[in-house]
Amino acid sequence: MTLRIDLHTHSKASDGTLGPAELVRAAAGAGLDVVAITDHDTTAGWEPALRALPPGLRLVRGAELSCRWYGEQPPLPLHLLAYLFDPDHPELVTELARVRAARAARGERIVTLLRADGVDVSWPEILAGAGGGTVGRPHIAQALIRAGLVATTAEAFGPDWLGERYRLPKEDIDVFRAVRLIRAAGGVPVFAHPRATRRGRIAPDTLIAELAAAGLAGLEADHEDHSPAEQAHVRGLAAELGLLVTGSSDFHGTHKTVRLGAFTTAPEAYERIVAASSGVTEVASG
Ligand code: AMP
Ligand code: FE
Ligand code: FE
Ligand code: ZN
Repeated sequence: MTLRIDLHTHSKASDGTLGPAELVRAAAGAGLDVVAITDHDTTAGWEPALRALPPGLRLVRGAELSCRWYGEQPPLPLHLLAYLFDPDHPELVTELARVRAARAARGERIVTLLRADGVDVSWPEILAGAGGGTVGRPHIAQALIRAGLVATTAEAFGPDWLGERYRLPKEDIDVFRAVRLIRAAGGVPVFAHPRATRRGRIAPDTLIAELAAAGLAGLEADHEDHSPAEQAHVRGLAAELGLLVTGSSDFHGTHKTVRLGAFTTAPEAYERIVAASSGVTEVASG
């Protein structure tokens, strides 16, 4: 039987709704053999996930880094998944802390804009909702839902709210610097949902080729935000550039509808990631 491998999930350490321990238990319950925990800009979920790891499940420790490409105006936001890197690499630690602080500053500015328009949400309440995890727009979306202004997270990400009108940029990591830092920390960088046109502007293929030359290892092809044509395009590009291909759920608990294991990664690609890493090991319990 082939292994079921899901390499992109979020816990309460960022904008997921399950704690890291609950996440690994849910992953085992969903029949996964391998799961990666990839919270936004933090490794805070690693320890609790590890301690709760159910027998038979392998844990890939990772993170999803908020990056930006400055080759376009306005600069293009993009996400890099980083696997099995050293969580104590000083420059990476500093950079992640800086991005988390930038996220909080941006969140507070969004709340200020909302309040100026008479929307009754408060920053302390949103911070409390994030429970000490990396703050993101999904936490502001929850406040809009609690205030009865929108019914769903998807609606909160619409153009009238966090998708456009109240969307502010944050200070992310330069994407080339992020690729180099992940590699320097022994990690393996994979471009998350690179072709997700439904999320907004996307990276041109020429940029992806430059990132591959700079050390990018792979592309996430199978993802709910990619149409079948977009998935096929990503696979073709990966083949052309010699990059590995992943598929993952990008599970966020009840902040999204996608389920654990909805998309999966082939064992060969997973083995390439493990072989290319030297920061921390994957962990198998039991
Ligand atoms: P931020 O990281 O604060 O910019 O917020 C972006 C995060 O919001 C993404 O990583 C997703 O987790 C989530 N997100 C983006 N668009 C949507 C959507 N339409 N519905 C639900 N969650 C979304
Ligand atoms: Fe997220
Ligand atoms: Fe992402
Ligand atoms: Zn994600």
